[in-house]
Amino acid sequence: MNRWPMRSVSREKLADSTLGDKVHRATLHTLHNRARLVASIPEWGELRQRAREARLRALDRHEALLDEFTRQLDRRGVPVTVASTPTEACDLITRLVLDVGGRVTKSKSMTSEEIGLNAALESAGAKVTETDLGELIVQLAGQAPSHVTAPAIHLSTEDIALIFRDKLGMSIPAWVTSGERPEEPTRKAFARELSLEARRVLRARFLEADVGISGANFLVAESGTIVLVENEGNIQLTTCLPRRHIVLAGIDKLVETEADLAVLLRLLPVSATAQRQSCYVSLFADPHPDMHVVLIDHGRRALMDDPEQRDLLTCIRCGACMNACPVYRNVGGHAYGGAYPGPIGSLLMPHLEGMGKWADLPFASSLCGACTEACPVQIPLHERLLQLRARAVESGEVTELGLTLRAATVAMQSRTLMSLAGALYPLGAPMAALAPAGRAWLSSRTLPSRSSPTFRSWWKQHEPRVEAPGRRMEPTRPAPQTEVPAPDTADLLKRFARRLADLGPGGESELHRFSQARQAVEFLRKRMDGIDPAGILISGQASDKRGYELGVTPAAALIADTGGVVLDLPDRTLGRASTLVETHIVVASPSQVVATLADALEMRSRMRRSEAWSGYQVIVTGPSRTADVEKVLVIPAHGPRRLVVVLCEEPVDLAALRRGG
Ligand code: SF4
Repeated sequence: MNRWPMRSVSREKLADSTLGDKVHRATLHTLHNRARLVASIPEWGELRQRAREARLRALDRHEALLDEFTRQLDRRGVPVTVASTPTEACDLITRLVLDVGGRVTKSKSMTSEEIGLNAALESAGAKVTETDLGELIVQLAGQAPSHVTAPAIHLSTEDIALIFRDKLGMSIPAWVTSGERPEEPTRKAFARELSLEARRVLRARFLEADVGISGANFLVAESGTIVLVENEGNIQLTTCLPRRHIVLAGIDKLVETEADLAVLLRLLPVSATAQRQSCYVSLFADPHPDMHVVLIDHGRRALMDDPEQRDLLTCIRCGACMNACPVYRNVGGHAYGGAYPGPIGSLLMPHLEGMGKWADLPFASSLCGACTEACPVQIPLHERLLQLRARAVESGEVTELGLTLRAATVAMQSRTLMSLAGALYPLGAPMAALAPAGRAWLSSRTLPSRSSPTFRSWWKQHEPRVEAPGRRMEPTRPAPQTEVPAPDTADLLKRFARRLADLGPGGESELHRFSQARQAVEFLRKRMDGIDPAGILISGQASDKRGYELGVTPAAALIADTGGVVLDLPDRTLGRASTLVETHIVVASPSQVVATLADALEMRSRMRRSEAWSGYQVIVTGPSRTADVEKVLVIPAHGPRRLVVVLCEEPVDLAALRRGG
């Protein structure tokens, strides 16, 4: 297998003077927003610790969880297949697609990139449309995604405009080709037009698709739930409109319990897109009449048995390590060559596809540790990179650094040799420059000057005195525990209202409160006034596959912490009233508010056990959105452009509203 030429490709990427700027701008934008959000979550450290424990526990119990998950889906008539290799998975999915027609809509799935699914489907005659905006852009450009959560991060508004002109026939303003850079508001307005063009083009594809293929963010073993997280609404339309739904995921996506899921769902959106919660979290545990789950091993079981590196499989694909990595920011994702770029890609690719092809990747790091600090599940990425470097050297795949690393290992194990090395450090650069490899290394780097005083001399003065044996140390007193009163409904509703308002910065989200059902119905009627009745879809009404002006659904719960609304959808077609509409109105009772996402998931488990709720819930947090073109926020993406929450003290009879009562 040919070695991926990481070094020469990186040199090419570095020579592109615009690439670093584009990637820096986008990654730093997310990093700063994320840092601000993390600072407002006091329990962040504790959440990371709990997430790591949950993910490691899932690895320890992997085969049992896989059995449990498969049993749960089997009971609902959903076949689960574990494919050992990419070819096996691609063959099975291709058969499943061609069985029912060949028009496929697909949501973002890095696993599908890993196994080369699109190429396999297209060579068998299927027509595949990527529906995530970033994925669509790179598909049209004939490129691979360059980031796990922002596939088109390396492209500017102008680049995307040219792609849309050439592939979609979109007319574009003259400044795109003239090289003039217009004022920022003009560029931002055009970024919005590009996103809306994609919405228009994709809507037709969603409606005609025979098969929807999605990935999965998590698979919950105890409930057999498939969990998908997104902002645009494209996953909703991919999974609910076509007749067949195929789920493709790595076997590492299993988690044990709904409580573990609650922790991971708090970390993922913050780390991935700097959001408290993504717009849509879909929880599928429904008996879909035509659903297939394909799980892929592809080296994962072998990695689970690797005691030193197995925690790489706890990754939740948030992309934070890419944003934090100074190497990634300069060379972009394509320099890494594999499906997964950045620090986690440098580690996963050699495990999934062998050191032979990917031996250079672990060396594509400054080992600064920024990736480790960013990782929400606390994978010590820089340590894993170091271990993998040692393996690359030991295996003979990398020889240049072997001698240096061996010398460093010997020196670091000896106090005397380290002292000597410290004393000789100032001679390091002139001596290294004598050898050709050293000269090459120093041609693009400067050795840092030795600090003064040296660490050793500083340590001599500051070394803490060890307590004499037997002397009692003062125990640290725990801080007195103060009882935190549970917030009451009024407080929760205030928090819910604040969060909901934040979700529609341009007034795209609204909250209206009524004490009597009569007032709420009057409000709803006013919103329906002037709309052709054929353009209104009230939950429970029979629907076609087409767009509606207004959709009305009941809420099953409200989440104060995020401004999210939980919908319980006994049938996937019922989701149309919340997705295929311009305005989505949710009718709820103030008593339905809960404090946190964890409370909502706990409630879901209870309600499902008592069969009060169905097998399919969606948590909607604001109107659909995207920021795939230069991080410009655009509302809407594929779902509604407006979310209206109607809170009423008395129950509102939506069936009567449907009948015109
Ligand atoms: S390694 Fe950590 S930071 Fe990187 S994508 Fe995975 S979970 Fe996110």
